[in-house]
Amino acid sequence: MIIVLKKDADPKQVESLVGWLKERKITPHISAGHHETLIGCVGDVAKMDVGLVQALSVVESVQRIQEPYKAANRKFQPEDTVVDCSGVKVGGGDMPVIAGPCSVESVEQMVSVAKSVKEAGATMLRGGAFKPRTSPYAFQGLGKKGLDILLEAKRETGLPIVTELMSIEHLPLFNDVDVIQIGARNMQNFDLLKEVGSMTKKPILLKRGMCATLQELLMSAEYIMASGNPNVMLCERGIRTYETATRNTIDLTVIPVLKRLSHLPVVIDPSHATGYAHLVEPCAMGATAMGADALIIEVHNNPSKALCDGVQSQTPEMFASMMKKLDAIKPYAWKRG
Ligand code: PEP
Ligand code: MN
Repeated sequence: MIIVLKKDADPKQVESLVGWLKERKITPHISAGHHETLIGCVGDVAKMDVGLVQALSVVESVQRIQEPYKAANRKFQPEDTVVDCSGVKVGGGDMPVIAGPCSVESVEQMVSVAKSVKEAGATMLRGGAFKPRTSPYAFQGLGKKGLDILLEAKRETGLPIVTELMSIEHLPLFNDVDVIQIGARNMQNFDLLKEVGSMTKKPILLKRGMCATLQELLMSAEYIMASGNPNVMLCERGIRTYETATRNTIDLTVIPVLKRLSHLPVVIDPSHATGYAHLVEPCAMGATAMGADALIIEVHNNPSKALCDGVQSQTPEMFASMMKKLDAIKPYAWKRG
């Protein structure tokens, strides 16, 4: 349920309305926009007497919302959410690019990639220390040592780091990580979602499960937000279809669709979505033109020797050349009207 307040609503009366809602175990989310102030109500609103709220002098109107996601809903908060990732803003029109290897392999590899992507214009660094691999025999990531290497690359370059959390027990190791990635395979690991919602306020990059609908993605975001962390970014990384020419099928439609349904920023990952380095640039250009809030790109200093996802990893040269093209497109990017 959403309560729309009158423009000149008396703050004292608003405060007493908020108290009244809390007494009824309703959690109020206040969204003060340029044009109007809303109170989004989460909880069991079914028993609430809408007429009673409607009659208050500070209330303009009351709307029930149909969608099962509330906090992530655009109706709940008309203004775009801007997620602050240690100074890098995602959602405010800057369109930052996150880049780095699939997996952290060594200090030399990480620092070398970090320096070259920074030079080319990336403003955040990615790299997996805990890797979700289909095969138990494949490289599983360096774990804690990988996080230490990422932090070394952060010290060397100043780039905030984005890395995947696979297990709740590892959360204490992520204290100096700037953005926590929840991977496609864990999009519906509800215990993990509740944990990153309640135990931290760090930005969460939530990747869409490979067979997940957008409503399911938004419900997973809702788990994190309803548990107390509003800093969620939605990431499209390709979905599984009947097509075999690409690793996954990139669904760029998510940008306008999610932006209508939700106020959360939308990040596109053309590396996992296509699976081939030569397809990353055209898809990144398309995503930029369609108004993606950020991109996340896999870059390796020596893709043929990469321990994971070398085929889809750009070289630093490919990345630098792509970044110039993206800058040329940015001024023409589609914006929600
Ligand atoms: C990754 O970003 O390296 C990764 C494993 O992504 P996804 O969860 O999208 O497969
Ligand atoms: Mn990867």
